Amino acid sequence: MADIRNEIERRRTFAIISHPDAGKTTLTEKFLLYGGAIQLAGAVKGKKNARHAVSDWMEIEKQRGISVTSSVMQFNYEGYCINILDTPGHQDFSEDTYRTLMAADSAVMVIDAAKGVEAQTRKLFKVCLLRDIPIFTFVNKMDREARNPFDLMEQIEQELGIRTYPVNWPIGCGREFKGVYDRHKREIISFLGDGTANGVRQVEKVELSMSDARLGELLGESLRETLVDDVELLDGASYEFDMDEVRHGKLSPVFFGSALTNFGVEPFLEDFLKMTTPPLPRGSSEGEIDPFDPGFSAFVFKIQANMNKAHRDRVAFMRICSGEFDKTQEYYHVQGERKIKLSQPQQLMAQDREIIDRAYAGDIIGVFDPGVFSIGDTICTANRKFEFAGIPTFAPEHFARIRQTDTLKRKQFVKGTTQIAQEGAIQIFHEPNTGMEEVIVGVVGVLQFEVLEYRLKNEYGVDIRRDGLSYQYIRWIENEEFDPKQLDISSDTKLVQDFKDRYLLLFTDEWNIRWAQEHNKWLELSEFGR
Ligand code: GDP
Repeated sequence: MADIRNEIERRRTFAIISHPDAGKTTLTEKFLLYGGAIQLAGAVKGKKNARHAVSDWMEIEKQRGISVTSSVMQFNYEGYCINILDTPGHQDFSEDTYRTLMAADSAVMVIDAAKGVEAQTRKLFKVCLLRDIPIFTFVNKMDREARNPFDLMEQIEQELGIRTYPVNWPIGCGREFKGVYDRHKREIISFLGDGTANGVRQVEKVELSMSDARLGELLGESLRETLVDDVELLDGASYEFDMDEVRHGKLSPVFFGSALTNFGVEPFLEDFLKMTTPPLPRGSSEGEIDPFDPGFSAFVFKIQANMNKAHRDRVAFMRICSGEFDKTQEYYHVQGERKIKLSQPQQLMAQDREIIDRAYAGDIIGVFDPGVFSIGDTICTANRKFEFAGIPTFAPEHFARIRQTDTLKRKQFVKGTTQIAQEGAIQIFHEPNTGMEEVIVGVVGVLQFEVLEYRLKNEYGVDIRRDGLSYQYIRWIENEEFDPKQLDISSDTKLVQDFKDRYLLLFTDEWNIRWAQEHNKWLELSEFGR
């Protein structure tokens, strides 16, 4: 029992978000390097070059193909057991990011020091705010010419609407990036070497107090003076450090460094681990579930099919919320209303997928899914059944009608669209009383249409025709007894059903939503499909 408590207490589970290219992959890799999970940096995954849309989703394909390594990784560092959840950088996949954040206890936001807050940082950040979890900021690429750190702080505060607290402060940038000042210890950590080793090894450093005579020698007089001035300004101007505000995502602790050269990575990791919490309780139908409760419980936050084309497998990723997972035990799948053995439970240790015997609250495991799980499902023990609060789906904003070009492929088409919809990448709708050979697809980001097309062709051998539709809004009909014949709607509003046959309306604009409500006073509409 004490063992389980220890195991859970040392867990730290966080998601990492950034605008593409800010350095998320490089930073993750350095964490693994420090954790001893890999020997040399450069091992996490192959990198993409081009930046246009197609390469972005080809990249997703590549990631799905070679490994899920980039989606969830576990490593040990200084007694902590760390789970990192990667998130897609492209905003069209922000729903995926949202689900991943549901499985995390905190988020790390990586920002390029020269570029500051970028378009996708803003989008992803908004998603983070929905979760009310601590957000830590790592200002990366300090080994290059960077913006003034005060300006960066101000930009983060103004554009993202979160207060910042620099935990450390950069000393110089570019070739002159000498180290960071630790505001808590009031000492500087100066990095030795010039970073040209490309950060394949852990960095050497010295720690000096601000009054140390060697400071001027080490930094140069001009950098020393700037630092003294900056520190004075910071002490006078920045927000007080308030852990409670950090816990609720109101105040973001900020760190500076360079993932490429390793400068500042370890100071960040150390402070970050001290500031984040072990797994937190989660809301459920039976009240809060304590992570230390010995009974196993978990929820599914991600489903990925066909990760290995040869096997056509489907993996459900679940976040363990309480207790200990034991491979030999039988558990209870609440939504499926039946007992279940989780087969081929696996976890990722750096590059390797491993079949595991045990895992603990805070961990993420992937299990073989014979097609029974949906996103948001709860798995628990049979003697204590409850449901975790569901994961809301984002309302799609883009719609298209799709059909297979070869009618002989009907079966594959239905299977493909249904499975991809179950993964949560798309939502599918059909007109009342029609089958699924022609469906309306709704997505949050247009890139998902391309992914759908690509996957249907590559995984199911189906070519499709896609015609864009001008709907922008979606509302589920909540009335228990609904008769489509009673409905009076304008000609550009459409009545459809989702895969659970619930009725909903598609609208082209808000004016039509009002029209529908005024002409059907009894109609109860909701933005969420529960
Ligand atoms: P991601 O798209 O956020 O995962 O970004 P990557 O980690 O792939 O980094 C994008 C590019 O920036 C790569 O060419 C990296 O080598 C480079 N990069 C990452 N971190 C740093 C850094 O600290 N300094 C410099 N100069 N380049 C970096």
